[in-house]
Amino acid sequence: MRRFVPILLLLLAGCAAAPPQRREPRGAPPVVRVKIAAGDRVRIGGEEPFLVTDGIRGREVREGECHLSVNSSGIRMTTEKGGDIRNPTLPIWAYALAETGKVLVNGKPYRGTVVIRQDSTGSLLALNEVDLESYLLGVVPAEIGTLDPGLFEALKAQAIAARTYALKRLEEPGEREKAYDLESTVMDQVYLGASGETPLGNRSVRETRGEVMRYRGQSVSAYYSSCCGGHTADIEESWDKPPEAYLKGTKDIFCREAKNFSWSRAFSRDQVQMMLDAFFSDSLPPGWKGYPGRWKSLRVLKRGSSGRVLELLVTTDFGKRVLSKGRIRWVLVDLVTKAILPSTLFTLRMDEAGVTLSGNGNGHGVGMCQQGALGMARKGRKAVEILKHYYRGIRVERAYG
Ligand SMILES: [Zn+2]
Repeated sequence: MRRFVPILLLLLAGCAAAPPQRREPRGAPPVVRVKIAAGDRVRIGGEEPFLVTDGIRGREVREGECHLSVNSSGIRMTTEKGGDIRNPTLPIWAYALAETGKVLVNGKPYRGTVVIRQDSTGSLLALNEVDLESYLLGVVPAEIGTLDPGLFEALKAQAIAARTYALKRLEEPGEREKAYDLESTVMDQVYLGASGETPLGNRSVRETRGEVMRYRGQSVSAYYSSCCGGHTADIEESWDKPPEAYLKGTKDIFCREAKNFSWSRAFSRDQVQMMLDAFFSDSLPPGWKGYPGRWKSLRVLKRGSSGRVLELLVTTDFGKRVLSKGRIRWVLVDLVTKAILPSTLFTLRMDEAGVTLSGNGNGHGVGMCQQGALGMARKGRKAVEILKHYYRGIRVERAYG
């Protein structure tokens, strides 16, 4: 029954004499749940008085910290001044009493509410539940840097891309049943809370409030990475994901001056052996039993339209295997720093001594190239122009007021 009501309303609206009006969307920004810490202990504090409560028992903390810990006998909650709260139940909420106040988690300030839960392993999980606009304040400078005012349009482009990325996540089916929405690391978007904010970053979020990228009316998957190396990637070049019309690779002349535009890595034969041993000891795909054995050669089998390596053939005395797409970056890691390969946009040379890779770019290369966005802003391009260069056919629209 209920589903027929909107249709009836639409019919009535269609009969009205007044022309339909284009309304500014209203409503508040949605709340995102960001994982900010995990472990057996969490410290909660405040620069101003805050309340910490399990929903049944609460304690107003005016001085000092509240310590939460978990062990086999349960959850323990102690406050430095004011005593323990016995047998608290999770979740525990903490928020500043002043509306603009912040809560400290392990010494770092966060806007909004902090929620402590337990993950599936029993560890404490600290989440920051914060409105999307406040979340972005702690993301934008962390992702693209503290920039000069002359690069403000790149900050705005970053704000719109980061907002779209988060909103798209919230719109995924079943998202609200998960423990949280976003990691605070490069797994999603780097989020530093209030300590990551800058005046210009805050202004870029404020001036783009509610603006997101849409393609044919739908929020886009707004991936971005540090430097595309001269050509962004089709999404299916970097990951095993279906093609997207707005995530097609494009030539990019704007990141050429970037420090991470080109790179090279030289590996001795022994180092390649160690990399293969390390990778396959961690994760041996089905059918790869006994791998790798002694390696003989590495050869590029297939490239995508941007030139990125799609397939790398590894030949060892156990036979031939193909590594594909982004996975290649996790095999050829720096043995000292454990840094993954900067990109899959490389050429490979093999000789008696070992393997030399010469490459371009840093990151997966899908969507916006951050270094290119900076280059475009330097040339006077506007935020929307920057976004349209990297996400083909999109429109920037307001999702809320
Ligand atoms: Zn680029």
